Amino acid sequence: MSATIIDGKAFAADIRGRVAEQVAILKEAHGITPGLAVVLVGADPASEVYVRSKGRMTVEVGMESFEHRLSEDTSEADLLALVNKLNADPKVHGILVQLPLPKHMNSDAVINAIDPAKDVDGFHISNVGLLGTGQKAMVPCTPLGCLMMLRDHLGDMSGKEAVVIGRSNIVGKPMAHLLLGESCTVSIAHSRTKDIADVVRRADIVVAAVGRSKMVRGDWIKPGATVIDVGINRVEAEGGKTRLVGDVDFDAAKEVAGAITPVPGGVGPMTIACLLANTLTAACRANGLAEPEGLTV
Ligand code: NAP
Repeated sequence: MSATIIDGKAFAADIRGRVAEQVAILKEAHGITPGLAVVLVGADPASEVYVRSKGRMTVEVGMESFEHRLSEDTSEADLLALVNKLNADPKVHGILVQLPLPKHMNSDAVINAIDPAKDVDGFHISNVGLLGTGQKAMVPCTPLGCLMMLRDHLGDMSGKEAVVIGRSNIVGKPMAHLLLGESCTVSIAHSRTKDIADVVRRADIVVAAVGRSKMVRGDWIKPGATVIDVGINRVEAEGGKTRLVGDVDFDAAKEVAGAITPVPGGVGPMTIACLLANTLTAACRANGLAEPEGLTV
């Protein structure tokens, strides 16, 4: 039997709609317009695309978008000065410094200079610590999007076996913490894991965040499992073109899984939707207002 396809594109549109409703209420009832500042250093083509779509969607949900483009040779001191200015600006509720930064900059120092309350990427060491200790944090957008899809599809995840493949600070580790928070029994697999197929076969929930096209084979999947594919890999297609595929062999896995996210159209669109949700959450917290339900953990 073929798996249910989890439509991340539709889900993300729904989240953005809910964010827009809450933004309208904030404006109307409290005169507050949430603001998101995005800082891009240099001209990495992929980052340019992300920053443009983030800016467009920020405006679409009724928030203010502040874009700061700095040249590749900007000094770290100048970038830190901008971050400090944004930290102090009451119109800015969320700050995102687009990664990767040029090689002459220390990304950790820059990220940790952001006010944790405005750290809508959830990468500041304080937010990492809060999430790791089960306290209210700013949660990184991609794992938050994965969790929202899992909650929507599965409801209660308590006691389920979950495997996260990949242990990056951006996806794998925060994802594992979120699943622990849902009372799953969590394993984290990585490049040194022995017999990864065997580990994945135990899992009711599989989150793949590796960056290797179709690494997770169909026969690794436990029948009925829920599979979230975070991977984005560009591969050659017919006619000299390229196309995007995930970390999971989708065609094979969908014949075994209970539900699965496609690539593209799965996790990807959820990431920006969660960035907007985090900015709204930050604006509410900054003003001592109740957080909108269902848009954070
Ligand atoms: P990353 O920092 O490169 O981490 C990759 C992880 O995969 C590492 O922990 C690595 O293990 C593990 N790994 C590599 N080869 C492996 C293997 N053969 N078997 C098992 N584990 C292996 O990548 P990332 O930033 O987490 O991103 C992962 C993927 O998600 C990429 O395709 C990225 O483009 C995508 N992504 C998508 C979104 C989205 O919005 N959809 C957002 C972020 C990332 P070690 O630690 O042992 O090296």
